[in-house]
Amino acid sequence: MQDEKREIRSLLPEELEAALREMGEAPFRGKQIFEWLTKGARDFSEMTNLPLPLRERLGKGFRIAAPEILRRQVSEADGTVKYLWRLSDGNAVESVVMRYSYGNTVCISSQVGCRQGCVFCASTGLGFIRNLSAGEMLAEVLFSQLDSGIPVTGVVLMGIGEPLENYYEVLRFLKLVNHPRGMNIGMRHISLSTCGLVPEIRRLAEEKLQLTLSVSLHAPDDETRRKLMPIARKYDIESLIGCCADYFRKTERRISFEYALIRGVNDTPRQAEALAGILRRTHGHLNLIPLNRVEGSPLIPGDARKFAERLKELGVNVTVRRRLGADIDAACGQLRRKEAT
Ligand code: SAH
Repeated sequence: MQDEKREIRSLLPEELEAALREMGEAPFRGKQIFEWLTKGARDFSEMTNLPLPLRERLGKGFRIAAPEILRRQVSEADGTVKYLWRLSDGNAVESVVMRYSYGNTVCISSQVGCRQGCVFCASTGLGFIRNLSAGEMLAEVLFSQLDSGIPVTGVVLMGIGEPLENYYEVLRFLKLVNHPRGMNIGMRHISLSTCGLVPEIRRLAEEKLQLTLSVSLHAPDDETRRKLMPIARKYDIESLIGCCADYFRKTERRISFEYALIRGVNDTPRQAEALAGILRRTHGHLNLIPLNRVEGSPLIPGDARKFAERLKELGVNVTVRRRLGADIDAACGQLRRKEAT
């Protein structure tokens, strides 16, 4: 029964006001509700400036996305906080709060599970269950901030799931989290990471958002990329790079390419050269990630420092990603995976 109710955290303030008007209420009630939701209300009974009958009517027509904490882990090394959330239907997703000198960022999941099947990724094993709603994604950001007490200034869509496969809800989430009356997180402080869905990248370019698009490249040649990422069998490097170059032209936002270095697989001098060519064509930036080892996987991290040096000599704009929360399984689907086994 519960699932037939509309999930109210997914509504933009304007939509909330319209919904209240439809109920024969004054639109300012919508404003009040949005404020309560932004403060972290989990139930209509908390909204004490609304008349009791209205609270009851709202409870009958709507539900509020308010995940419960299944597990919280705090890194002793760097203060990274990792959450495993229980959603209203019993499914679980992860979020991670990371502390950087330039601001605190929360990494959220966009789907329960993932169907992309990248061989190096911990989210792959459990398969795909469903998309998250915009309100569920917003709740990850909000409750990560409220529970940790760490003020969040940035968001990355790099947790479990492929955000561009959940295009409609992700776009709605971006509008919500960016809303001046809501969490008000600036688009320039938001990154969206994709395995490289070419049509959706083209569609996103048309939205002309100021967010940072991250593209998981992981190999500069089709042969290697197809071994690592099934999506590479659908879209080859040429079409991916072409759409990335267009994305930069249209949005004037530099794409950040992610590259997890795997010894003997994607770390050869020839691959460094091919990679440099791709970055020149797309005006992109390379984010070199030391591979996080996943239990049961034979893949071994490559020497990121050495590879970065080689790339710099080739004129590539490259940074090596810092590892945060290594002591708490903070990377990519690892906590959910542990909980499920
Ligand atoms: N589906 C999206 C976002 C989720 S993954 C995407 O593919 O981009 C976020 C990033 O972590 C991606 O770049 C992904 O390739 C990378 N990643 C996944 N498993 C990893 C691992 N074991 N080590 C290093 N990076 C990994």
